[in-house]
This record gives sequence, structure tokens and C-alpha cells, in this order.
Amino acid sequence: MNTVTERTPVLHTKLPAVGTTIFTVMSTLASESGAVNLGQGFPDFECDPQLVHAVTSAMTRGLNQYPPMAGVPALRQAIADKFLKLQGRAYDANTDITVTAGATQAIITVILAVVHPGDEVIVLEPCFDSYVPNIELAGGVVVRVPLTPGTFRPDFDKIASAITPRTRAILVNSPHNPSATVWTGADMLKLQEILAPTDVLLISDEVYEHMVFDADKGQIHQSAARFPGLAARAFIVSSFGKTYHVTGWKVGFVAAPAALSAEFRKVHQFNVFTVNTPVQHGLATYMANEQAYLDLPAFYQRKRDLFRAGLAKTRLKLLPSEGSYFQCVDISDVSALGEADFCKWLTTEIGVAAIPLSAFYGDGFDQRVVRFCFAKKDETLNAALARLAKL
Ligand code: GLN
Repeated sequence: MNTVTERTPVLHTKLPAVGTTIFTVMSTLASESGAVNLGQGFPDFECDPQLVHAVTSAMTRGLNQYPPMAGVPALRQAIADKFLKLQGRAYDANTDITVTAGATQAIITVILAVVHPGDEVIVLEPCFDSYVPNIELAGGVVVRVPLTPGTFRPDFDKIASAITPRTRAILVNSPHNPSATVWTGADMLKLQEILAPTDVLLISDEVYEHMVFDADKGQIHQSAARFPGLAARAFIVSSFGKTYHVTGWKVGFVAAPAALSAEFRKVHQFNVFTVNTPVQHGLATYMANEQAYLDLPAFYQRKRDLFRAGLAKTRLKLLPSEGSYFQCVDISDVSALGEADFCKWLTTEIGVAAIPLSAFYGDGFDQRVVRFCFAKKDETLNAALARLAKL
């Protein structure tokens, strides 16, 4: 008998700074403590049964084998039609639109496709937690530019001075996670002006595109698609999960000029190859219902206002929530704890989970602000508010 030695090689990590995401950590703590989970951003209500029906009908009709690599043609056409209608830009469904396994896959695939080792990529902090590890996996150099503390507005002098001959791309996210701010048309024009003399690519994370509030004050979603100088250099990323309350389906898309999409698809085909067929067919059918996304701002604005009215009775200080399904609050009148400890305390002692903004900064910058997600049933929001009333 040979004796077999079991030897698991010790890995040299590619991502030494990375642990489990804050969203998983807080959701786990929330469920262990029986807390109302306003941490991780996802709805706790069902999607439209018509959408489920459209998907199950595709399955029963036998649409269960690989779709074309770039996505089901009818879905790509529906996405292109929506861009033309809402943003006034014509994307070719064949060459410019690719369906992805959610926005997170779209973003890492863009980065792997365009970032060469040593290329610089600008991120605006606070930023979503996958961006930086994505750039590092591609061998890129992360260049962090802060959004203005307190207001989270872009500082274009800082952005302009961060651009060097090595800059490959800048990642922009509006409506913004975690701050719930929305870039104005003037912001987009300024970005367009700064990038004009460069070959810097724009990666525009627009997953909360249909959650922009206060239309009566003239606020709209300023997609990069509306600005020709940006659209020509942009990978625009969005997500059906956010718009249709199906974050677990993990389907999104990328819109980019044909030459950029061609490079994207080279990586995409060896990254996921394709995205599940019946969900794509179901979404293609369901997208004919324009009301579903046109009604979304009012749907979420009502929840925002309900939640804000309750929070206004506490000593938590409300920051603006212009878009997304997040509401940030300043905790400094309530607690002397840092953000991360406050969120743990709030979860275990008060029974409401939140996310510390420090998790969205490379250096853990703590400005005493935490994020709540209000994409919840009214009863969930009211249960959370009843607990938060102690503050
Ligand atoms: N985008 C959501 C959030 O910011 C969830 C992200 C995640 O769970 N990875 O909360």
C-alpha cells in the first residue's frame, strides 16, 4: 500500500486587502441578531408576477439552450430601443449591446478587457467595493480621487489633475452608491470637457438609472449616452436586477461603441460565455411594458419620503437622497462610535442593520456616516423606524 500525503498548497493571495464583502458581513449579522436588514441593497418584496410568467413561459417553450454569446437578439434590441427613446442615442443591437451576468460581471469584464498591467484607472471614492479589486486583478494601478467630503460632489480640479499619460479609464457611478447623489448635466459636460483631449475611457456604472427623484426640481438621470463626447468613449453598464426588483437573477448589460464592444466580447466569451436564456427572453418580453421603469422613480420616492419622515424624528442627521435606493445619515449626534462599530451596535442592540461608508474607501476613511437601503416593504421600513425611534 502506498501512503498518500495530502498536501494543499499554500496560496500567495492576489488580493491581500480583501476579506468577505461588507454586504455579506452585515447581512449575516442581521440574520443572526434578528435585525431588520437595511444594510445590503436589495428589495424585500416580490417582482411583478408578469415578469416571472414571461420567464417561466420561455422555459416551458423550450428556450433553455445557449443563447448567442452577446445575448438574446430580442433583448439587445429592446435595450437599444430604450436608449434611443430615453437618452437619444442610437446603439446598434448587434454590435454595441452585450448582455451580462449582472453589472458586477460587466464591470470586471470591461476592466479585464481594457486595462493592461501598469495602466492607471481613476476611481472616485467612496466607490462600490468591487471596483478596486477588479483593477488590481487586471494588474492596473488604482488612482483614488475623493468626492468632496460632506456633499459627495465631484471635484473636477482633482479629477483633471489625476489624469496622466498612463490613465486608461475613469469609473463614474451616478446615481451614486453609497452617497445617493446624482450627477447633474453640468457635471457630465465638465467630465466630457476634461476627457476630450485624452484617450481615457469612461466606465459609467448606471445601475440605479431609473431611481432619480424630484423630477419636479428638474432632476433627471444624466446618462453618459446623452453626451456624444462621453458616449464615444464609454462602456455604459446597467442592471435589470435593480430596475425590476430581481437582484438575484444577475442579468445586466453593457452598451459601448462597436470597437469597444468587440474587445469587451473577447473577454466576456471566456468569462461567462453567455447569460441564462429564459431570463433573457422573459426580460425582452417584459421590456415592452415601459410603465414598469417609468413608474419606478415615484415608487421609490414615496418610500424615501416615508423613511426620511421617520428618521427626521431621531437624532440621526439626514443627508440628501437624490437617487438610488439609499439614504445616508450622519451619526455624530447619536454615538461616539466609529461607523463600523456603530453599524454592529445598531444591528445587535437596536435591531437595524446599516452599512458603514468607510467600507467604500481604501483607507477606511470614517466621516461618521452610514447608509440605509429603503428598497423595502412599508411594513419593514416602519418596523425599522420603530426601533430607530430610540435614537
Ligand atoms: N449593490 C448592493 C449594495 O450596495 C449589493 C451589493 C452586494 O451585495 N455585493 O448594497
